[in-house]
Amino acid sequence: MDTSSARPLDGRTALVTGAASGIGRACAETFAEAGARVYVVDLAAGPARELAERIGGLAVVTDLADPEAVEALPADADIVVNNAGLQHVAPVHEFPPDRFTMIQRVMVEAPFRILRRTLPHMYEQEWGRIINISSVHGLRASAFKSAYVTAKHALEGLSKTVALEAAPHGVTSNCINPGYVRTPLVENQIAAQALAHGIREDEVVDHIMLDRTAIKRLIEPTEVAQLALWLCTPHASYITGASLPVDGGWTAH
Ligand code: NAD
Repeated sequence: MDTSSARPLDGRTALVTGAASGIGRACAETFAEAGARVYVVDLAAGPARELAERIGGLAVVTDLADPEAVEALPADADIVVNNAGLQHVAPVHEFPPDRFTMIQRVMVEAPFRILRRTLPHMYEQEWGRIINISSVHGLRASAFKSAYVTAKHALEGLSKTVALEAAPHGVTSNCINPGYVRTPLVENQIAAQALAHGIREDEVVDHIMLDRTAIKRLIEPTEVAQLALWLCTPHASYITGASLPVDGGWTAH
């Protein structure tokens, strides 16, 4: 990498999962602006192709719940952003087992399979960056989100294990732990909670989502993407096995 360049990721290839929307899209756009060639991996074909065209990347339309499809993803990424995720809200005793399994497949097994395939390339060139988009829910639980909280805690374990194995090869592995980010995933939750509680959407944000944060606003996807980019710069080369909260003080409690 040419560190004197204005574009810190010139010559790098990044694979971003769930890149067609929200945080993943912000990462794909930010990394492309920084010079990277981006594999835009997503289930949503139209948005993935549109974004890839706009940023000069390559759309890879894949269902990450399908292990065989994951095994067919490109293995030559220098940077992996494990970002794709989904939520399902229900008490444990009513949680559909199939949905629980699917969430683990997308949010734990797919990252594991992607890393086991891309690490040899990173080891070969003695440089790589793994960024796992975890959550405050990788560090804290919330009721009714058992599959999501379980998956994020597992991702934390995977990230730290890879950090230990990969350090001698110039590869770092970290988690980013956002609170509530303004994305479609959260906008759907706001609407659902407003309906469930019979309150206005702004009241859901103020009284439910931001209840535990000291900074009373949602996070913007670009704020997460900028931290992901910084983790790929030489300034961050000693940071590995870490979990970096972007949570407005939520985990300070
Ligand atoms: P989003 O719903 O805006 O985007 C998720 C993307 O993942 C979508 O483009 C979707 O098509 C893709 N995806 C889902 N299932 C897939 C599958 N099986 N195969 C391929 N692609 C699939 O969500 P977001 O809010 O940007 O969330 C991205 C990540 O950030 C998730 O891991 C989420 O848990 C995490 N996160 C989000 C927030 C938040 O408040 N939005 C907070 C903390 C962590």
